[in-house]
Formats: sequence, C-alpha cells, structure tokens
Amino acid sequence: MRKKIQNLIVGAGISGAVLARTLAEAGQKCLILDKRGHVGGNCYDYKDGNGILLHRYGPHIFHTNDRKVWDFLSRFTRWTAYTHKVKGLIDGQEVPVPFNFHSLYALFPKKEAVSLEKKLLETFGPDQKIPILSLRQTQDKELHFLAQYIYEKVFLHYTLKQWGVPAEELDRSVMDRVPVVLGWDDRYFQDAYQAMPSEGYTALFENMLAHPNIAVRLKAEFSAVCKEYAYERLFYSGPIDEYFRFAFGALPYRSLHFEMKEFPQPQYQSAAVINYPNDFDYTRVTEYKYFLPYTCRQTVAGFEYPLAHERGKNERFYPIPQSASQALYRQYAAAAREEKNVRFFGRLGGYKYCDMQTAVQDALALAQDVLTGG
Ligand code: UDP
Repeated sequence: MRKKIQNLIVGAGISGAVLARTLAEAGQKCLILDKRGHVGGNCYDYKDGNGILLHRYGPHIFHTNDRKVWDFLSRFTRWTAYTHKVKGLIDGQEVPVPFNFHSLYALFPKKEAVSLEKKLLETFGPDQKIPILSLRQTQDKELHFLAQYIYEKVFLHYTLKQWGVPAEELDRSVMDRVPVVLGWDDRYFQDAYQAMPSEGYTALFENMLAHPNIAVRLKAEFSAVCKEYAYERLFYSGPIDEYFRFAFGALPYRSLHFEMKEFPQPQYQSAAVINYPNDFDYTRVTEYKYFLPYTCRQTVAGFEYPLAHERGKNERFYPIPQSASQALYRQYAAAAREEKNVRFFGRLGGYKYCDMQTAVQDALALAQDVLTGG
C-alpha cells in the first residue's frame, strides 16, 4: 500500500521551500525531497574551521525591490546590512563594475574622461543605466569608442569564459544584467533591500521548512520516493528534461568549479568580488569575509572556474540563454502542460536563469495559484 500525501515537492531549494511553507501555512501537508544531503539548493552555505560562512555553489547576495519578498524571507532570518561592491581588473587596475564614472576616470586621461562624462550625460541623462549593447549602437564617434572599449575590456572575454560561447550568440538579457552606470553609484545592485542572512542561507531555509505540515527527506531520489507515495499533486523543481527522461535531448547548462583557498592574513583582496574579464582561467574571486562581520585572523577566497556541464559529473548551474536551448525547452514545456496534477517550477523546472528574488516571487505566485484553485 502506498502512503498518502497531499503535496509532493521535489527540490528543497528556494523555490521548493517557499512553496512548501506557503502551502503548509494554508493547512496542506507537504513532503519535500532533495537528492542532496542538505536544504537550500544552490544557496547552501556552511561554516569553515574559522567560522566563516562559505557558499558551496557560488556567492549568493540577496537583493530585491519587492517588499513582499523581503517581508516573507524576514520571517525566517535576521539580516545583516550588506552592500555588494565588485571590482574588475581592467588594464592592470581594479575599477568598479558595473562600469561607472569612477571606472571612467580611473582608466582614461582626465581631459578625455571629462569630455566623455559630459557627452554621456547630455545624450542619456544623469544616473541612467545603459545596457552595453545599447551603448554600442550610439552613432557618436567618441561614445562609440567608449562603448567598444567597455565591451572589449569588461564583457567580451568574461562572457566567453563564463558561457563558452561568444557574447553575440547569447540572449542580450545576460549582459543587460550589468549595465553601464552614468553616475558615481558603485553598488553592484541598486535595490532597496540588500542584506545577508545573519546566520546564513542554510539556517534561513531550515527555519522556513520547520513547520508541522512539512516533512523533509534528504538524499532522496524522486524516482524512488514516487513509488512509496500516492500524492494528490506533484511540484517538480528538478531538471525538467530529467523528469521526461531526456525525451527531446538534454537541455544545456553551464557548470562551475570553485577552489576555496585559505589565507593566513585578515584580508585578501580590495573588494568582496573581483572580476577577471581578461586574465586567468577563473572569472571572479569572492572573499567571503566581506559578507558578514568576523574577527578571525584568516580569510578565505573562492576562485570561480566556469566549465561545461557534464551530466553525473558536475552540477547544473546556469541554463544557457540561447535560442536553440529555448526552443528545446519549449518542447519540454509543452509536454509539461500535458502532465496531470504536476507543476514544474524554479530554475531547473522552468529552465530559467533567475535571481533569488525571482525564485521567491515565482514560488509565492505558484502557491497562490494552487490555493485559489488554479
Ligand atoms: N559580465 C561580464 N563581465 C563582468 C560581469 C558580468 O561580461 O565583469 C557578463 C557575463 O556575461 C555574465 C553576465 O554579465 O555572465 C551577468 O553577470 P552577473 O554578475 O549578473 O552574473 P551572475 O552573478 O548571475 O553569475
């Protein structure tokens, strides 16, 4: 006899946890599984020997303008104020990224920088954020030269390293994430709410899942658990192609490898993240001590190496935003619509490059839809 459960949720990352909590609070029973040995998905963090919280799957910096998302998460964590700043090594200098007036004045002779600043402000207005691909379309000779410079020094090689394909083959939304800033604001994100969970992301998601209507099973494969349970509804945030046994072929992903190195001094680098668009095999180095206050003498930096995703060998990180992969995904999405009582969601279920806040928004909306009979 199969055990009965109202909602079976596959994946205990952000999407699964937010959905489980919302359904549980509405009185519904949920069983949530994850094949990994921990909750939190790719937000998972852990303390090293010095007590520094490290992010196993790469740096996660929370930011949102959405008060609803902020309020929801704030029920499960205290926050430590944190403003993310990134620098990039360009022509031998560490300058702010996104490229802004600080970067302009650091890299160009004063007279030229003054002239470019004036022209940028006259053309676009103050404090605008201009996607690099839009800036490249300007007809003005001087601005076009600047756009080419930024494109080549900041985007071209970084993007090739990061994605393994030339920038022009990717959806422009990828590079639009890091626009050129026509002002002096050198924050990486301009959102109203930016902070780090004071006890880390893992603790946040453990708190979220601590509810009498939620049972959590770790190191649990969906293919095995689904034979044990009869469920009314299935919510699947695992890879959508895997669910359909790769019927149309495997969806492409980019993977990452992180090398964590401990250093015996209190500080390793001049910003939380330094990008290396043009040098080295890694794209960026993250010094985790910047994220929360610590008193230890040592520090840890994570060196981030992009690589091809190989099924079974490494993790899926980024869905690749290209027209061919989107076309393949649409075949899976069409098959998904035919599945009765199954909803696909999240980064892997929806084959979507999304920030943490988008994952929360989508999961809250899905829960709302389910609870109102959708
Ligand atoms: N990017 C770049 N140079 C940089 C920073 C970003 O070319 O110094 C491009 C690159 O294609 C990257 C994309 O912008 O994949 C998005 O950057 P973001 O920092 O948002 O990436 P994430 O933190 O999501 O990996």
